[in-house]
Amino acid sequence: MEETKNESAAEKKSELLSMSYDELTELLAGIGEPKYRVSQIFPQLHRGIAPEEMTNISKKTARAISEKAEYRLPEIELKLVSAIDGTVKYLFRLGDGNCIETVLMRYRHGNTVCVSSQVGCRMGCAFCASTIGGKIRDLSAGEILGQIIAVTKDSGERVDNIVMMGIGEPMDNYDNVLKFLKLVNDERGICIGYRHISLSTCGHADGIRKLAAEKLPITLSLSLHAHDDATRSRIMPVNRRWPLAEVLDACREYRDATGRRISFEYTLIEGQNCTTEDAAALAGMLNGALRKGTAYPIHVNLIPVNAVKETGLRPPEPADVRKFSEALEKRGIRATVRRTLGPDINASCGQLRRQTMKDGAPAPTSGKATEERKATE
Ligand code: SAH
Repeated sequence: MEETKNESAAEKKSELLSMSYDELTELLAGIGEPKYRVSQIFPQLHRGIAPEEMTNISKKTARAISEKAEYRLPEIELKLVSAIDGTVKYLFRLGDGNCIETVLMRYRHGNTVCVSSQVGCRMGCAFCASTIGGKIRDLSAGEILGQIIAVTKDSGERVDNIVMMGIGEPMDNYDNVLKFLKLVNDERGICIGYRHISLSTCGHADGIRKLAAEKLPITLSLSLHAHDDATRSRIMPVNRRWPLAEVLDACREYRDATGRRISFEYTLIEGQNCTTEDAAALAGMLNGALRKGTAYPIHVNLIPVNAVKETGLRPPEPADVRKFSEALEKRGIRATVRRTLGPDINASCGQLRRQTMKDGAPAPTSGKATEERKATE
C-alpha cells in the first residue's frame, strides 16, 4: 500500500501556478537558467501564457520547465451568461476530471470573481448544496489562482475584487488558500490588493486566528445564520466544535490584528431563524460581542435562502425579510439584503457542479440566458 502511495506522489508533477516567485526562481536555477529569467516567466504564467507559448524563451527552456512542473488552467466545461445582469457562471473542469464553479459578477465598482477553494465541502451546513456529497479534495493554490486567470482570459476584462465564497471552506484548506492569497497579491503577477479580497468562513475559529496572525488586511465574512448555539449547531455542525462565543472571540481577535471590519452573513430560512425576535437577539449578541459601548460599525448581509431541491428549505416572505432587516437597523446594526445576481443561471454555488457530476447534464437555464458548452468529441 505504502509503496503505491509513494509512487503516485513521485509521479505527481509540481504545478507552476502553485509556485511562489522564489520557488520558480529555484526551479529555473535547477535547469541552468540565469536569475533574471524568473522576471520574464512569472508574470506570463499569471497572465495565462504557458511556457511553450512564451516568445521570449527558447523551446529548449520551455521543454526543460515543463519536464519539472506542469502548467494547467481550469478548462471551461460550461459557461452560463445571465441575460438579466451579465453575471457569468463557469463550470470549470480540473486536470483530474473534477468540476468546480466560479462566478464573475459585474458591479458598478468593478468586476468581482467568486472562487472555489475545495471540490465539495465537509462542513455539512443544512442549507448548502456544495456539501451534499462531502469533500472530494482540496484545491491547490494554483487551481484557485487558475480560476482568476481563466476568467480574465475568457472575459478579456480585469478582475478587481475576489471573494472566497464559492464551493468549499477556505479555512479547511488553510495552507493552499494562504498561498493563493499571497500569489494573487504578488505585484509581479496579478497584483490584487488584500483590501479587495474577502474570505468567507463558516466559523472555523482556529483558521480565523491563524489568518489574524498573518495581519493581512483581508475582509473576513462570517457565515453566522443563527444567534443561539442550539439553532446554529442544528444547521451548521461546525458550531459544535467552535460555538458562537468562541467564533465571535476569534472575530474580535481578527479585527484587532488587522484593523478590518468583519462582515456577517445571515441566511434567512423560513421557520428556523427569521422572526423579529430572532433579529433582536442577533442584534443583542453582536452588539454585546463586538461593540461594547463603542461606535464600531456592524454590518449584516441578509440572504434569503436559495432553495436547494435536496434540502427542502424555503426563504421567508419578502415582507418578513424587510421586518427582520428593520429590527436590526433599529438596534444600530446595518443590514443589507443580498441582491441575487444571475437569478436565471442559478448562480449560487454548488448546484451546477452537483447536477453535472450526478448525471453529466447540467441544469437547464431559464429565459434568455445564454449557454456555451464544451463540444464533446
Ligand atoms: N464555506 C464558506 C464559503 C462558502 S459558502 C462559508 O461558509 O462562509 C458562501 C456563503 O453562501 C455562506 O455564507 C453560506 O452560508 C451561503 N450559502 C450556502 N448555501 C446557501 C443557500 N442555499 N442559500 C443562501 N446562502 C447559502
